[in-house]
Parts: sequence; structure tokens; C-alpha cells
Amino acid sequence: MNYCGRFAPSPSGPLHFGSLIAAMGSYLDAKKNHGNWLIRIEDIDPPREVAGAADKIIDTLDRFGFEWDEPVLYQSTRYTAYQDALHELQKEKLLYQCICSRSDIQAHGLQGVEGAKYPGTCRKRGFDNSTYAPQRSALRIVTGDQPISFVDGLRGTICQNIAQDIGDFILKRADGLFAYQLAVVIDDAYQGITDVVRGADLLTSTPRQIYLQRMLGLPTPHYTHLPLATDKKGRKLSKRLGSDPLNTDNPITALMAALEFLGQPLPPEYPASTREFWIWAIEHWSKDIICRQ
Ligand code: GLU
Repeated sequence: MNYCGRFAPSPSGPLHFGSLIAAMGSYLDAKKNHGNWLIRIEDIDPPREVAGAADKIIDTLDRFGFEWDEPVLYQSTRYTAYQDALHELQKEKLLYQCICSRSDIQAHGLQGVEGAKYPGTCRKRGFDNSTYAPQRSALRIVTGDQPISFVDGLRGTICQNIAQDIGDFILKRADGLFAYQLAVVIDDAYQGITDVVRGADLLTSTPRQIYLQRMLGLPTPHYTHLPLATDKKGRKLSKRLGSDPLNTDNPITALMAALEFLGQPLPPEYPASTREFWIWAIEHWSKDIICRQ
């Protein structure tokens, strides 16, 4: 199968240095493998969106010399596909409505790898199709008590037991919005993504995504999780926390810094254009020399 990679930013703010590393890692790996590279805007969480951010992200990628091989896909156009997937899971009796509040869940005091673990309180209710169904409820998927493992392109075998480490997780929120875990799986399959290269902050999400792929009969791409850039205080850079936006007036300096962060050899002379930068970077890209933080 032909390599197909992607960069999938949420439009919650402008791109920062950490986003550039994810975009660059996925782009270089795709181009080195003569593959396609796509952009997907993950705009399924309007309360967290910043007006104009999606356009700005695309403009920044353009100024930095990224070239994408298909029109940009917006997740806000894909709700029918997400709903169809929920129907399928519901038919398999894998979904149930959950009326627990965050504080209900915290009160159980079960610690998972991402904060409080869901104790499964509403699982026994099953899926209620009747008029008595709760008006405001999230939809959770039943998770199996078995390990899910995958071989990360940088980190070797990663293994997680979702039932023990996370608990049944949300696919549709109580406010009616689709969850990232569902949308990302449906669209990686829809776009024919064979290789996902992204930040290590999503490492603990990958087993949930593989579980969903299995439940929906979708293929599992190869995954590589890149080291994360942090600020002076050691915090992960984040759009939502307002990390410094990339300076679009001087793309080459940021591109060089990102390439260095990824442990790649730098061009012997400062590139005269982004085009020159990318020719060098693609030719010399090697995933194996990225440092594994
Ligand atoms: N939309 C996610 C983010 O901006 C990334 C999703 C992914 O790469 O799977 O953090």
C-alpha cells in the first residue's frame, strides 16, 4: 500500500514550535517514503475553537513551504460518518449512555493513566432506546479487559490495557459533540492514512484508537510518536495555553530549529528558500536518529 501520512491540527489557536515538529516529522517521513501527505483540520470542538485559526494554520503551513496532496479535510463536514459509526457500535451492543458527572467519577478515586478512571457505573444500564432514555448523557464504549499492543516507530512495543488504565471511554459527549478518539479513527481510515507520525502526548490515546479500529473493522496504521518540545518551565507547548505562535516572517529559522530538535543533520549552509530547505531535509531524513525523549 502507498504511504499516506497526515497532519491533523485542531483550530484552537495558531501553530507553535511543537506543532511544527509534528507537521515536519509527518511530512518528512511521508516524502522520504514517496508518499502523500494530507492536512486535516480537527474542528469538532467549537467551544475550544478560535475564530480564523484554521485559515491561519493553513496559511502558516503554506508559508513554511509544506505541500499537501489533497484538499484539506474539515472534520466539521464529517458528522454523518461519525454518527454512522456510532450506530454500528450500538448494533454490536458496545455503547451505553452515561449520566455521571466529572465529580461523580472523581469521587470513586480510581486513578488511570489520564487522571480519574471511569469506574463503569453506567455500564449496567446498557443502551436505552426508549422514551425513558436520559436526556443529557454521554455515550461510552465498553472496553475489553485485554492488553492492546503496537510497535511504535521510535519506541518499540507499547502495551496498554484500556479497561484497567482508562476505563470505558467517551465517543459522544453529553453536549452532543463527537469525541476526538472516534473522529480521528474514522477519518484516518477514510483518508487511507497508513502512517501516523505525531507528538508523544497522544501515545496513551493510540491503544484506544486501535481498539476502535478493531471494533469497526478498520485498518490500523503504523504509529510513531515524536518527542515533545517544552517551554522553559518544562511544560508541553500548547495552542490552548497560548504558546508563542510561529513567526511566519522567518520560516527558515524555525524550520532549522525543528530539524535540529528532531536530531537530523542540518544543511551545511543556511538555505536560501524553504524549497531548498525541504530538498535537503527530505533527502537526509532518518527516523532512526530522532532522540527518544
Ligand atoms: N488534533 C490533535 C491535536 O491538535 C492531533 C490529532 C492527531 O494527530 O491524531 O492535538
